[in-house]
Amino acid sequence: MDPAPAYPSAMVNVTNRCNLKCQHCFVFRDGNPNELAGEMKPERVLSELRRLRDRHGLRRMLWMGGEPMLRWRTLEKGLLLFEHNTITTNGTVPLKDFGPDLIYVISLDGPRAINDSVRGEGVFDQVMKTLSAIADDFRPTVMIQCVVHRENQDHLAELAEELLPTRAEGLTFSFYVPRAGEISSRAWADNQERETAIEIVFDLKRRYPEFIWNSSRSLDLMRPATAKLVTDNCPLLQLALPLYIEGDDFTTPFCCYGNDVDCDRCGAWGVFSTACKIPGPWDSPST
Ligand code: SF4
Ligand code: SF4
Repeated sequence: MDPAPAYPSAMVNVTNRCNLKCQHCFVFRDGNPNELAGEMKPERVLSELRRLRDRHGLRRMLWMGGEPMLRWRTLEKGLLLFEHNTITTNGTVPLKDFGPDLIYVISLDGPRAINDSVRGEGVFDQVMKTLSAIADDFRPTVMIQCVVHRENQDHLAELAEELLPTRAEGLTFSFYVPRAGEISSRAWADNQERETAIEIVFDLKRRYPEFIWNSSRSLDLMRPATAKLVTDNCPLLQLALPLYIEGDDFTTPFCCYGNDVDCDRCGAWGVFSTACKIPGPWDSPST
């Protein structure tokens, strides 16, 4: 029997529940389940993750949802299984101090009006409240991630300026990943059209180099000349095992963005930031 493929990282939707109903949610395009019924028992989540860790050599886990902090008691134990942990959260549930090695990534879609038109009335202020409630001796790293799309690309500076005085240590921009064939007000038609948004982020990085955590190299790789070289050889598919908990089973989707994604237009931050760290066809002298 062939040995199981090795992955340094994995990502898991530790719950399918969420307290928000974002319009763009790719996890629950047909509405959010809010009941506990049918959710995998904590003991099974932890034993399966331990098994998968040992099978694939996983060292890093990205905890996603739903809203993972709704299952913080399971998370508290799950974090002990891996050397490195990141929790993505909508930032409306209080953060817990699970120690210095943890990174919290809080999602925002833009400044108040834009964010709330997608995530719900009052959500931006709830996130700001969460940030201001973080104690001085809180040990995890707290960063914000904003998914850039065609509708919010002209409002990113406003978001950065609102966040600069807060307890958030950095801001990263991930670029919208459309579904195959998607034509929408969010999705750029192609990577040529997306370049304007990349320039906007570059400009912000020049203004706030310490606060904007996208590297210049990762932004450059997103340009039309190289983007497809990266996504055709997706570093996330090579290095990160996507896991979905569905009922009482763990399944492996095509990628963490789902089974029906348009890789050619993918602008996921994780893809391009990882490409900067590993060799690939995008490293030719002309790039
Ligand atoms: S917070 Fe995340 S999981 Fe919850 S509805 Fe919004 S996008 Fe979906
Ligand atoms: S959509 Fe998924 S598989 Fe495709 S390039 Fe992006 S992260 Fe990789």
